[in-house]
Amino acid sequence: MIKSLIAFDTTSRESNLALIDWVRNYLNGLGIQSQLTFDDDERKANLYATAGPEDRGGVMLSGHTDVVPVDGQDWDTNPFAVTERDGRLYGRGTCDMKSFIAVALAHLPDFVERGLAIPLHLALSYDEEIGCVGVRRLIDQVRGFDVRPEMCVVGEPSDMKVVVAHKGKRSFACDVTGMAAHSSLAPSAVNAVEFAAEIVSFIRRKAKSLQSDGPFEEGFDPPHATVHTGLIQGGTQLNIVPDHCSFQFEIRYLPFDDHVGFIDDVRHFAENEILPEMRERFEASDIVFREMSGFPSLTTPDDAEVSQMCRHLAASNETAKVSFGTEAGLFSAGGIPTVVCGPGSVEQAHKPNEFVSLEQLAKCDAFMKRLKEKLCHN
Ligand SMILES: [Zn+2]
Repeated sequence: MIKSLIAFDTTSRESNLALIDWVRNYLNGLGIQSQLTFDDDERKANLYATAGPEDRGGVMLSGHTDVVPVDGQDWDTNPFAVTERDGRLYGRGTCDMKSFIAVALAHLPDFVERGLAIPLHLALSYDEEIGCVGVRRLIDQVRGFDVRPEMCVVGEPSDMKVVVAHKGKRSFACDVTGMAAHSSLAPSAVNAVEFAAEIVSFIRRKAKSLQSDGPFEEGFDPPHATVHTGLIQGGTQLNIVPDHCSFQFEIRYLPFDDHVGFIDDVRHFAENEILPEMRERFEASDIVFREMSGFPSLTTPDDAEVSQMCRHLAASNETAKVSFGTEAGLFSAGGIPTVVCGPGSVEQAHKPNEFVSLEQLAKCDAFMKRLKEKLCHN
């Protein structure tokens, strides 16, 4: 099953419909109907399906079908064909996160055969890797159902640990417009790159103060919110004072953190400390911020039913917190208590020679078997 799913190139920029159709046919063969929700261009789809009774809540297993690009990465094997070597399966998506979906699908015939007393739902999304974009439509759809899943497990790579909390994220773009001139006349122009750099420096100072002064929450690595600028573009050539510069930055915040204060501070600095000086020289100078994407943090209590059930299924007494984001925060905000638990380590995600170990797959396999004991008649 893992081999089949990896063979579909579902890099986020590509359509995922071939994979979705394949899964849909597979489910059809088991007598399970699926419902699709599409993106605006109908090039990508989420899939939602229910096995078992439809008049009660049940457990939802969820995963994203898209993977990050392999462009520019040095792979030793074909990333879209699984290679087994030294107790590991190599391929793009083996770890993040097609293996969890594959293990769930592979167990489905047995769930059906044994008879589900409590329903099992499958939720597959698109465009997770570009900001948890696709799953929002699926969540809207599920919220409209009379009976909703009672809980959800998102199978992102967690080494099969039960993750009950993760950071949230907000990302922003900033466009700085100044005035161009021949560089010999630099003082009379408004250098957009230099003014943008002052805002970037301010963001860096905020990052440092979060690191030194907190707030802190134990269990997260690092235990504070993080801020960084990841992209900057401006200028055309050295002898022209650039009239435009744009950059992108993000904050990854702790649950309960005041992340609104951060962006307010950045805006306030730009509007009060930077813009007046720019406008003194050129009235039409401007600094415009735009929020790009984000996802809420996750914080599910240790004693929530989903946390307890998942610890049992994963045969683990502990819960964990992680710094990377997942769709779990969105499910949780949508009213479905959610945890993250899946095979593989985030250490291998997004990298060349991504892999999942057979040992992790065995743990995931055991997880599904225990889930059967819980949901099936016999
Ligand atoms: Zn992922």
